[in-house]
Amino acid sequence: MKWFLILLSVLSAILISCSSSEKVRYDNYRIFQIRPDNSVRYNLLENHIGNESYQVLRYPRHEDGISELLVPPEKVESFKNFLESDGFDFDVVVGNVQKLIDEEEADQVGRDDFSWTAYHNLDRIYGWLDHILETYPQETSAFVIGKSFEGREIRGLKISYKPNNPGIFVESNIHAREWITSATATYLIKALLTSNDTNVQNIARNFDWYIIPVVNVDGFVYSHQHVCLELLEVTIQFQEYKINVPIFQNRMWRKTRQPHSSLCIGADPNRNFDSYWMANGGASSQPCSETYGGPKPFSEPETLALANFYRSISRKVTLYLAFHSYGQYILFPYGHTNKEAPKNLRDLTTVADDAAKAIRNLYGTRYTVGTVAGTLYIASGGGSDWAYNEGGARLAYTFEFRDKGNTGFLLPARQIIPNAEETLDGIVAMLKSAKNLAYF
Ligand SMILES: [Zn+2]
Repeated sequence: MKWFLILLSVLSAILISCSSSEKVRYDNYRIFQIRPDNSVRYNLLENHIGNESYQVLRYPRHEDGISELLVPPEKVESFKNFLESDGFDFDVVVGNVQKLIDEEEADQVGRDDFSWTAYHNLDRIYGWLDHILETYPQETSAFVIGKSFEGREIRGLKISYKPNNPGIFVESNIHAREWITSATATYLIKALLTSNDTNVQNIARNFDWYIIPVVNVDGFVYSHQHVCLELLEVTIQFQEYKINVPIFQNRMWRKTRQPHSSLCIGADPNRNFDSYWMANGGASSQPCSETYGGPKPFSEPETLALANFYRSISRKVTLYLAFHSYGQYILFPYGHTNKEAPKNLRDLTTVADDAAKAIRNLYGTRYTVGTVAGTLYIASGGGSDWAYNEGGARLAYTFEFRDKGNTGFLLPARQIIPNAEETLDGIVAMLKSAKNLAYF
């Protein structure tokens, strides 16, 4: 345990030396897109990532072989050398991550109104929810599913124009850094209450909507915070021990904020639901991993609160939507296996295909449709899988919003409105399609 004491002293030295006005910067951090085209390169890359502990933005997957990594400037040359010497097909898709973050911040400066031309923090989103509740007292009501690990309320909004409507549940921003998801969820609320489009008015009036703009409130607040420390990780070496420790990553934070080991914070809430939890390698058992499933199902107060609330309304909910980014996918069960197919696979596919067509119609944005396990990778313990397997939702979808990796989680704010508009068209088409198949 001696090395651990050394680690603690290094950590506290860094903590003491940093000033609270500093923030993590990503100057000249690059995003590499790598396409390992055979299993040898795939394994090579996986080992290399493990040894260097780069931040993985998109997980390497054998079938389509695309991986995206955030690489700090001091490692760019050696990483390039590694890729070139082993003949990898790769591109640098973002040359300076900080530039994207600066643009994102410039959009936020001086904006007092709540608009969809900038990303907003949790206080502003909650303030806007209050404003909506005051403005539309007949159609809207507030609900709170519970509190986060750090004690924040996880708030939602119900929109209901008349009694006995079938329900639709929308879960958003369960992954902290996916800011486009809460921006799209709030746009959806606004559209359902104010749109002049008869298609949107129809879906507003004929369904009850339960929308939670930010599920992972702690992670989301953290991703907005300007914390100190310029290092993303420190390397600790003592005798034969050498360990890379990720410390603060704020804007790129994904998980919850509950500590699960002395070194690492948070679990992946979208691997923490009690449905095939940890099955088939679809989540990591390592607390430092970005896809750590937690010490047990529903170990995270956020997922437990969501599940408890969902159970209280599940009787009337047919459709569960989970908003994520990025990659442009509409995904459906199963996540935990691709050896079995869900009973209504054909319907799930038809409804998703119709949504993807409508999305493409508006601005030409192409979404890929398929099961989580078949299209992306095995992922177990996800929210929409849980709702489908355990919560009685006959239709459950995960949207992975724009883009396909050029800006990734840092999607420029000018794309919020087009992303939200096409999503809304997709949802309208989805509900029409599901109605044709007699789901409503
Ligand atoms: Zn996500």
